[in-house]
Amino acid sequence: MIDENFITQTLTGLVRINSVNPDLDNEGAGEEEIGLYIDRLLKSLQIESDITVLSPKRVNVVGTLKGSGRGKTLMLNAHMDTVGVANMVEPFSARIEDGKLYGRGAYDMKGSIAAMIGAAKAIKDNDIDVKGDVIFSFVADEEYESIGAQELIKHYKTDAAIVAEPTDLDICIGHRGFGIFEITTQGRIAHGGRHQEGIDANMKMGLLLAELDELSKKLPDEKTHLLCGQASLHVPIIHGGQSLFIYSGKCSIMVERRTLPGETEHGVLDELRELIDKLSKQDKDFKGSIQPFIWRDPYEISKDAPIVRSLTNAAADVLGSKPSYIGHSWWEDSAILGKAGIDTVIIGPKGGGIHQEVEWVEIKSVVELSKILLDTVRDYCR
Ligand SMILES: [Zn+2]
Repeated sequence: MIDENFITQTLTGLVRINSVNPDLDNEGAGEEEIGLYIDRLLKSLQIESDITVLSPKRVNVVGTLKGSGRGKTLMLNAHMDTVGVANMVEPFSARIEDGKLYGRGAYDMKGSIAAMIGAAKAIKDNDIDVKGDVIFSFVADEEYESIGAQELIKHYKTDAAIVAEPTDLDICIGHRGFGIFEITTQGRIAHGGRHQEGIDANMKMGLLLAELDELSKKLPDEKTHLLCGQASLHVPIIHGGQSLFIYSGKCSIMVERRTLPGETEHGVLDELRELIDKLSKQDKDFKGSIQPFIWRDPYEISKDAPIVRSLTNAAADVLGSKPSYIGHSWWEDSAILGKAGIDTVIIGPKGGGIHQEVEWVEIKSVVELSKILLDTVRDYCR
């Protein structure tokens, strides 16, 4: 029922198009060309398709298969953008060797796009009766700010969704979130030779960094999740001071906190604020403040949710054994769909080299994914 050649050809076409996220890399082409390619493919399969322009070079593409009756509605979702291609030898070759197709995005997540379109083609080719609407959404910018998913949920609401991020055909039912916070310490600017007048903001930040270091050692033990692993914290950026011979008036850091399902922005903010308050009490010259910068929710869905059950049964049928339930340590668009009230689960193909210099996807697993998606649609949207 699934057209394997069509899927391989589609995947080849997708990988040959540069869709590097322009917010990650100035040379990035964005999603316009790949979006037009997908739109043309959907229309050639007689599937209604709409392009939404988000900003120059940035688009979403949404294909709709109208259901025949009152079945449950399902969205299949993939992002079209990729990370950059620095140091890659063959980013857009789509070379096939030993059943693997190579190139940027092959695994994350053009294999999934090909599998989704393959499932749509099977429904059309075989006149499969599906009662609920099936939405095929291809979004921009997952690798940066998720402007695509945020726009998508304003216009499309389904009972459930499958985000086809790579899982090696396991079923991902949760992932970590993250928060970025800017913390600033305030000093007092003075001539380097006048120590009675100066307060060194960099030294004050040092006190806070020591506290953060303690917290970063405790977190992974204190906060754990069966599937998603441990909470964690690090400080990717630090800026302080203006010149030699001047007491630093200001030092700021970015704190990156990886969160587990159940954690809230409020809770994490309080945890960090406590450290600042503690130092302020110990040292009258310590002045610190914190600002939330980015927040992305963690996500979790029950194994008993109808969409997870349908997907599990379909995967077990296609693969010959029940897949494992896993959690991802990184954030995905599933959190945005989940927060919009859409029951969302994650499954994608087998491969390797995600965000690395040699990326590939196993073609057989892309075909299997396509069959799993098709069977899930048939079962869930009855
Ligand atoms: Zn991805």
